[in-house]
Amino acid sequence: MKQMIKTKKQGLLVVISGPSGCGKNTVVEELLKIRKNCYVSISYTSRLPRDKEIEGQDYYFVTKEKFEELIEKDAFLEYASYADHYYGSPKKEIKEHLDQGEDVILIIEIQGALKIKEKLDETVFIFIMPPTMDELKRRLVNRKTEDQEKIDKRFKRAYEEINEVSKYNYVVVNDQIEDAAKKIDAILEAERCRVDRIEEVYLQTKEEESHEAILQDVKTFINENIKF
Ligand code: 5GP
Repeated sequence: MKQMIKTKKQGLLVVISGPSGCGKNTVVEELLKIRKNCYVSISYTSRLPRDKEIEGQDYYFVTKEKFEELIEKDAFLEYASYADHYYGSPKKEIKEHLDQGEDVILIIEIQGALKIKEKLDETVFIFIMPPTMDELKRRLVNRKTEDQEKIDKRFKRAYEEINEVSKYNYVVVNDQIEDAAKKIDAILEAERCRVDRIEEVYLQTKEEESHEAILQDVKTFINENIKF
């Protein structure tokens, strides 16, 4: 029997931002363990790979020139410059996954998030907060991926980003990774139930169905048996 409600087949576009060191990537990794049908977009960047980062898995690492060539070709849904490097989300891949009904997650900084907000306002915007600024600094120092100057730059930027939290739809504090992931899962589940995702409502009841069937029978009988 025909389902009463038909919702959009397209997946949700989900932007997750938060200051460097807040644990966005770890929370999303945890989310993928509990939520099916999610795809995390792989960005292009002009920065060099860090230890253990893998090409095509963490990022597509390209030169500044190649990145600018891709900008010219309109290959990005959004791109931004962050800590002296370019970062961008590939348009074609994102569209393909959304069209397959998957929720596509972009883990991006705020300038890029705001560009998406201008273009696609159905996007779900989630901001991840560290439990405290001290904890953020501790995480940035402990991960040992940047020198002191870069840590200071990222920490300063963290203050600027946190100031923009009101531009997002949801805020999730990353105190416990599992809890934060569960909250994001709940947000996405609720977003999938929004009425503006309904494409069609089919309200035909059993009585209406049989009424229509009788009407159809009467019409057929008249056509076949009564000549005017
Ligand atoms: P990192 O160098 O630490 O990997 O990334 C620096 C910042 O760039 C992070 O906030 C990260 O979320 C953001 N970022 C990663 N990919 C993209 C992207 O495609 N677009 C934008 N706007 N930001 C990105």
